[in-house]
Amino acid sequence: MKPVIALVGRPNVGKSTLFNQLTRSRDALVADMPGLTRDRQYGVGRVGEFGYMVVDTGGLSGEAETLDTLMARQTLQAIQEADVVLFLVDARDGLSAADQTIAEELRGFNKQLLLVLNKTDGIDANSAATDFFSLGLGTPVPVAAAHGRGVNRLMDRVRELL
Ligand code: GDP
Ligand code: MG
Repeated sequence: MKPVIALVGRPNVGKSTLFNQLTRSRDALVADMPGLTRDRQYGVGRVGEFGYMVVDTGGLSGEAETLDTLMARQTLQAIQEADVVLFLVDARDGLSAADQTIAEELRGFNKQLLLVLNKTDGIDANSAATDFFSLGLGTPVPVAAAHGRGVNRLMDRVRELL
């Protein structure tokens, strides 16, 4: 069985962009698996010898009153299925209340978790990162998913957790 990596975060942080990067390798086969809901998109990818399955989600809004919606439930299910959860945040927007709510939500799962700081292209990633230390999830892994930057390093970190 390939390890399953779930992409979680509020809307617009770049989950689907990272999903596309992670499933774009030469032998990637983006699978629309029958029987699975449209809210979770599954794909496979590999970096070198490391093969994995990745799950894109509609995301969590971070608003308590919407956590019971279908989309949120699907995301929670994706987290349950995952070996590693990548929690994406946006380096340009900085820390938001929604990020804090999602971090709290994620703490309730006993899952390997990596904080991923996306959209670090053209900005000082180190200073953007400090904003997110208060989430208590360690130093975020910087990437620029739209440019494929930092993705191999991110996957090295994922591997270390398995
Ligand atoms: P999702 O809602 O979390 O799935 O986010 P998307 O993948 O749809 O991306 C939301 C927006 O952020 C899009 O306009 C992307 O082009 C943009 N985006 C994603 N990754 C990056 C990045 O690394 N750098 C920049 N500057 N923009 C990005
Ligand atoms: Mg998306």
